[in-house]
Amino acid sequence: MEFQVSARKWRPQKFAQMIGQEPIVRTLGNAIELDRVSHAYLFSGTRGVGKTTTARIFAKALNCQNLQGSEPCDECAHCLEIRQGNSLDVQEIDGASNNGVAEVRDLIENIQYSASSCKFRVYIIDEVHMLSKNAFNALLKTLEEPPPKVVFIFATTEQNKIPETILSRCQCFEFKPLTHKQIVQQLDQICKHDGIEMDRRSLEEIAKNGSGSMRDAQSLLDQVIAFCGSKVTPGAVESVLGIVGQGALENFIDRLIANDSAGLIDQVQEIANTGKDLTLFCRDLVEYIRNLMMVRVAKNPEKILDASTSDLKVLGRQSREMDPDQWHQMFTVLARTETEMKRSSLSRAVFEMALLRLADVRPFKNIDALISVINESEASESEPPLPVATPEKKSFANPETITAKVPDESQAVSPSKWSEIKREISDKKSYFAHYLTVCDLVELNDSVIHLRVSDPYTKELIEKEENISAIRAGVQTVCKRDVKVQLSLPSASDEKPSTDNKAEKKTLTGYNKKDKIAESEIIQEALEIFGGVVTR
Ligand SMILES: [Zn+2]
Repeated sequence: MEFQVSARKWRPQKFAQMIGQEPIVRTLGNAIELDRVSHAYLFSGTRGVGKTTTARIFAKALNCQNLQGSEPCDECAHCLEIRQGNSLDVQEIDGASNNGVAEVRDLIENIQYSASSCKFRVYIIDEVHMLSKNAFNALLKTLEEPPPKVVFIFATTEQNKIPETILSRCQCFEFKPLTHKQIVQQLDQICKHDGIEMDRRSLEEIAKNGSGSMRDAQSLLDQVIAFCGSKVTPGAVESVLGIVGQGALENFIDRLIANDSAGLIDQVQEIANTGKDLTLFCRDLVEYIRNLMMVRVAKNPEKILDASTSDLKVLGRQSREMDPDQWHQMFTVLARTETEMKRSSLSRAVFEMALLRLADVRPFKNIDALISVINESEASESEPPLPVATPEKKSFANPETITAKVPDESQAVSPSKWSEIKREISDKKSYFAHYLTVCDLVELNDSVIHLRVSDPYTKELIEKEENISAIRAGVQTVCKRDVKVQLSLPSASDEKPSTDNKAEKKTLTGYNKKDKIAESEIIQEALEIFGGVVTR
């Protein structure tokens, strides 16, 4: 028997065989049963979700000689002709290659003749958004005064490119991407039917890479079967499709959680050795961490994530290993890293450095807890419990500036509040995350938020009205205060600690507990990661 690709072999021939799209199938079925067929339909949605298939079944149902309810028999002469693409009355036109006004005129001329043997003439125009403006205009006249017993079915992946005048004359249906579960079920059925042995993980991997398109998933399945034969071994899918599988992602995150820098770098080497794209892998990691956050915060993560039960279990376990703050931090760093990797000729090095930095996030379980530990130990006048930098090496902000600018206790804001404000702002305006990495909070009180921006260029960007509003809105949401925004650049003394004796003396006078805390290497790094200033 001739080999047929799965997508064709398994194309649904009846409404009942359709996967997903139930509301659309029901509405079309009702139109037939109630004899209320519109003269123009528009099916929109991403590729491989059943638009053309539905159009063909609908054309069969309109013309079937042996209709059962709204279901075509798929056996009568009309059904067979339509299925084989031989019907004179049901025509499929590719909008991408017949997009000129001449083609549309031809079509419209033909429409004047009544159907040769069928009840309805059906024109299925695929990729209709590719028609030229003039072609649409020619079509519009026909849609305004449609000849009897003619049905147009337009299909498009880009509804936004269809003129409003056409849309308003069509019944529009939006096809949803298929869910992971629906695709897995279908792939599983195909494998069982064709006697292909395949493990669950491989099935899920293929479904995931189909990105909601049944046709794409089925093509990938064909590709894998062509390579492996009737027995698909675990891991084969990854190597055939050139992807890094879910299992590898899980391992990677486990290593991040365990702070296993060496293991991470080994795994990067492994991935690079197999010729897989590290930038894509980084993107997958970003998505994975997003899923971890969702599992952590969402009430019904299974509804949001479209992941398998076993994946959800792993996500659930991993997400509890770290604070949401830490996941958020990883997300931000990796998302930025992916962008940097795309631009850099040293993308692998960029990735590795980011990973090493991320592995370091691990010790800072909770910045507030850490600071309070230090404060307590200071209060009991014991030695600092954490390794601190030697005083000679202090190069953090000039203590004088801190003393001068840090507000008194009543005005102080905790680093976690500032983190919260930053997150709030970045959530509303994602590009802001980058700006905020170069901002230090100097002061936040009832009337003013004062930020020190590390460079004049970024300061200028932040000074734009919309950005100022974004900062105010962030403070408003988190602290319930309406404040003015004050921006400053680091003063010269901040950048270059003075060697002048007098200045040194003055500096030492202003030296206090706060500065000691600020000196601690760990705190400094935490400040850098979470972007705060010491206020207590
Ligand atoms: Zn039939």
